[in-house]
Amino acid sequence: MLHYYIWTIGCQMNKAESERLGSFLEQNGYQPTASAEEADLILLNSCVVRQSAENRVINKLNALKSLKRSHPDITLAVTGCLVDANISQLNEKFPQVDHFFKPGEYPQWLGKPERTQALPLHPPPSVYVPIIQGCNNFCSYCIVPYRRGREKSRPVAEIVGEVRELVHRGVKEIILLGQNVDSYGHDLSDKPDLADLLSELNIIDGLLRLRFLTSHPKDMSPKLIEKIARLDKVCEQISFPVQSGSNDILKAMRRGYTVEHFRQLVAEIRSKIPGVALSTDVIVGFPSESEEQFRQTFNLLSELRFDTIHIAGYSPRPGTSAARELVDNVPADEKRRRLNLIEQLHESIATDINAQLLGNTVEVLVEGKNKGKWQGRTRTDKLVFFSDNGEYTGQLVNIRIDKTSPWSLQGQIIPNTIN
Ligand code: SAM
Ligand code: SF4
Repeated sequence: MLHYYIWTIGCQMNKAESERLGSFLEQNGYQPTASAEEADLILLNSCVVRQSAENRVINKLNALKSLKRSHPDITLAVTGCLVDANISQLNEKFPQVDHFFKPGEYPQWLGKPERTQALPLHPPPSVYVPIIQGCNNFCSYCIVPYRRGREKSRPVAEIVGEVRELVHRGVKEIILLGQNVDSYGHDLSDKPDLADLLSELNIIDGLLRLRFLTSHPKDMSPKLIEKIARLDKVCEQISFPVQSGSNDILKAMRRGYTVEHFRQLVAEIRSKIPGVALSTDVIVGFPSESEEQFRQTFNLLSELRFDTIHIAGYSPRPGTSAARELVDNVPADEKRRRLNLIEQLHESIATDINAQLLGNTVEVLVEGKNKGKWQGRTRTDKLVFFSDNGEYTGQLVNIRIDKTSPWSLQGQIIPNTIN
């Protein structure tokens, strides 16, 4: 029996692609193993969106050198955003690697697909479904369009068929994925949009919840906001990266919107979708970001009070226009100071938002057990833990919250309210 081991870092798209690669390999006779040493095939699904992620990939590749030396029969393959067009250069740099292949590809040597998009036979309750690959935006700091290519949407019928099959296999929640899901469909002949796709998916019997990420502020339409508000399975949660609170920095980032427009969109979303949870992404220390421009970001985040803030220090990515044209002139310790300030702000806002849920009853989709406790999420994507002797994986349960922290909630199951 052949064994595979997959190591994944990076975004949800990488996680989704690793899940599918695993299923694909299982359809081709492999079994998963939790240790690289026991594997016949090791797959690294890489991320290079920041230097820190790239360093982790390189460290992992270096660590695998001796294993490969002592077990030359192990196949070592790398996919994800480390893989650029210049494979021969990668081969030279990492001779221990047998194969490099682009994200989303299924090279012939991996096996024969039952379908190109291999679906898990026994999926968890919540599954990622990529709906659009690549990105056309070319934000000045971002390497993704260079590594994942231009936007390519999957046809509505293909996605609907796949979701029906996943629901048939027991899935309750679908998370639609794309670098920019709001531009879904513009490249398809009949030009469906994300709102149309959500309408088609919302009517699938047995599906309980729909989510999608990531939205781009320049492409968030009033039609989509209306649809999220109206469709019962679409959760009240939007991933909405602002990146900066300074118009000058947004322009240098080539984001295509202003702070005023972003603020207006947030107000519209909140007025049309009561109780909506918003998460955002922010980069601090972008080239020439002044203290005043950083303060504008800090103040915008204090004002808009996102449920979640993903924060990163700017990391120049070779090949991007920012790396070519702008000087990375905010010192590392200053980036760290700005990052810490936003992390503290995030913790204090998340503490307040979650504390408001104390004593409330929330609907939780149970994902499974973690360290002896049941774990699931609310429609607003809050992580909830509870203890009980029953079996709840994949069920919707009502939980009365009796403890909150910035990062999770705990509570008691309310009997006789299980769906
Ligand atoms: N498409 C989404 C968007 O429009 O924001 C996000 C995708 S991006 C791969 C994920 C996050 O990584 C971004 O939101 C950004 O905050 C961060 N990121 C991307 N490039 C970066 C860079 N060069 N330095 C620091 N953070 C970066
Ligand atoms: Fe990168 Fe911008 Fe595309 Fe997001 S929208 S993946 S940040 S280029």
